[in-house]
Amino acid sequence: TMEGALTARDRVGVQDLVLLEDYQSETAFLNNIKKRFKEKLIYTYIGSVLVSVNPYQQLGFYTPYHMEKYQGVNFYEMPPHVYAIADNTYRSMRNESSNQCILISGESGSGKTEASKYILQYLSVCSASNEQVEYIKSRLLQSNPVLEAFGNAKTHRNDNSSRFGKYMDIEFDYRGAPVGGHILNYLLERSRVVHQASGERNFHIFYQLLEGADDVLLSRLMLTKSPDKYAYTNQGKCAKVSSICDRRDFVAVQKALKVLDFSPKNIDELFCIVASVLHLGNVTFTQNEDGHAVVERQHEIQKIANLLGCQYEQLLQALTHRTIEANKEKMQSPLTVEQALYARDALSKAIYGRMFDWLVSNLNRSLTNKDLMRKNVIGLLDIYGFEIFKSNSFEQFCINFCNEKLQQLFIELTLKQEQEEYRAEGIEWEPVEYFNNKIICDLVEERHQGIIDILDEECLRPGDASDNTFLTKMEETVGKHPHFITHALGNSKLRKTIGYEEFRLVHYAGEVTYSVKGFLDKNNDLLYRDLKVAMSESKHDIIKQAFPVTELARLKRPETVGSQFRTSLNRLMDILMSKEPSYVRCIKPNDAKMSDRFDETLVRHQVKYLGLMENLRVRRAGFAYRRTHEIFLNRYKSLCPSTWPHYDGSPRKGVDVLCKYLDYKEGEYRLGKTKVFIRFPRTLFATEDAFQI
Ligand code: ATP
Ligand code: MG
Repeated sequence: TMEGALTARDRVGVQDLVLLEDYQSETAFLNNIKKRFKEKLIYTYIGSVLVSVNPYQQLGFYTPYHMEKYQGVNFYEMPPHVYAIADNTYRSMRNESSNQCILISGESGSGKTEASKYILQYLSVCSASNEQVEYIKSRLLQSNPVLEAFGNAKTHRNDNSSRFGKYMDIEFDYRGAPVGGHILNYLLERSRVVHQASGERNFHIFYQLLEGADDVLLSRLMLTKSPDKYAYTNQGKCAKVSSICDRRDFVAVQKALKVLDFSPKNIDELFCIVASVLHLGNVTFTQNEDGHAVVERQHEIQKIANLLGCQYEQLLQALTHRTIEANKEKMQSPLTVEQALYARDALSKAIYGRMFDWLVSNLNRSLTNKDLMRKNVIGLLDIYGFEIFKSNSFEQFCINFCNEKLQQLFIELTLKQEQEEYRAEGIEWEPVEYFNNKIICDLVEERHQGIIDILDEECLRPGDASDNTFLTKMEETVGKHPHFITHALGNSKLRKTIGYEEFRLVHYAGEVTYSVKGFLDKNNDLLYRDLKVAMSESKHDIIKQAFPVTELARLKRPETVGSQFRTSLNRLMDILMSKEPSYVRCIKPNDAKMSDRFDETLVRHQVKYLGLMENLRVRRAGFAYRRTHEIFLNRYKSLCPSTWPHYDGSPRKGVDVLCKYLDYKEGEYRLGKTKVFIRFPRTLFATEDAFQI
């Protein structure tokens, strides 16, 4: 129990970090989770927030027995666990009839996706059931292998890294049984389709298909078994990964697609699309005497056209030409080899990215249940954590912006929650000072003068717009902003550390230097219209739906990647705001995926990025410890002759008598309506120690 662990606190630390005497000390914080990690105690609370350190080994506490043990028990009575968070969320939803969400954050490889899977499993086990519900539960669970096959990849940090952000609502009926689900996906890393760093892979599905498909399917897809043969799967030079069995995973994906009610035709089309992308990667161009691109080995295009259900001639033409309008007349303008390669990769990324979106919307169709009435939802957010690499680009810019938004939400909601609990308990609220990072969010997203809009403006502007003019525009517009630094602006010491084509943002989690190279291109995400036309005329359902004709008719420019992301993030914030949040903060103990190594420097950074010290400060600003009167009285009643061995008054009265008997000073504690609040951990420790004697 909580108190049991307190007695052993020298060995395993405290299981709630609010009980740290020196709560301002990052070192004390680190020592505590390190001690626990060494004892395989990977979970620790900050109040109701769960901090989880990736153990990189299978631990024994995820069994049905453990799921059973966490059901319906008081949050603090059991050791910290992700099941406790899941259970508490589920109980709150049912008891208060309110919508809940669990926000899981942490850097790549910290254990977010594993945590979200444990939560989903727990919710599926703890909730009521019948035949129809079982059917929904299995669909909810089976959505994972599908999304992971198409959206996860091996990276340096994680053999199963999610390359998209995911928010999933699990819908429950009035009895608390799951009746459906809905998934929102964010910013798939599509550049991976065409390029993988050495030691990394493309999305799992490519290798699964090559490894797992039988000869009949392979020959239908005109594929040879070897990933070395394809430019999109051989760049990373690590097609085989020891921790992954592509063949087995492919079987699982096929099974999951069936459970999720994808038609055989659609399943076939999905694999055709994956195969077509592999073939596209092998399309090369030569230059004719006019300097124009010509496709080498044109029969490759025939294969691709077949697999995508579109016209061979049209596709061939669109890969090497683009239609331009001059003087109201349409003309075919040939592409250079460089442009043709760009167009080819753009097509591969678009096909794959849109297929992924199609997949998610079809999963949603399969998770929607029109017969069963939904009452409340539990949302699960598994989204990329803060990223600081040696070289940071547009992708990191988007991801870090997302984390600024989540941090803002976190601070606001934590404060709000604290305030509400104080109010509900009738205890006076003492204002807390904290750093509000809204100023950084505004710097990025504000209309007309935020970085996203400045970038969009440069993307729109005809003429000499380039990554560098974008940089200059930023300097003109936000150059004076306290969280923006460039070479041209800032003090001389700083200037030396920022390149000419870089800018630096002072994020809540630290400073990050971004290279502007590629910002315009990535934000534009241009796909030549001719290729869109060719796709929209496909005979295949998925491609046709993914490239709707209506999109071509629209005169408006397609929304840029940055604006789209801003819009979807703000929508996500609204969704999360309307729910009661719980948090799981994941930490990666080392970069080597090792089970017994705790790299303090690495963890210290993450504690910072996750804003954990700020979280602890907010939580500790008032009262460190709070428990219901019943629980407190039960634990300590034997210390006082008026409450032990006989006491028959109200729990609140009992706690009052007990605290006075224990000589608690006036400022040290408060009695709320249902809970006792204790300001300093030492008060509690003293009581606990008295209890030991
Ligand atoms: P990314 O942002 O790259 O998607 P992530 O935070 O989702 O990373 P996971 O994929 O959940 O990271 O975890 C990475 C690996 O760490 C897992 O594949 C697993 O091997 C190990 N791991 C994570 N959590 C646990 C756990 N609770 N028990 C055992 N192993 C774990
Ligand atoms: Mg993940």
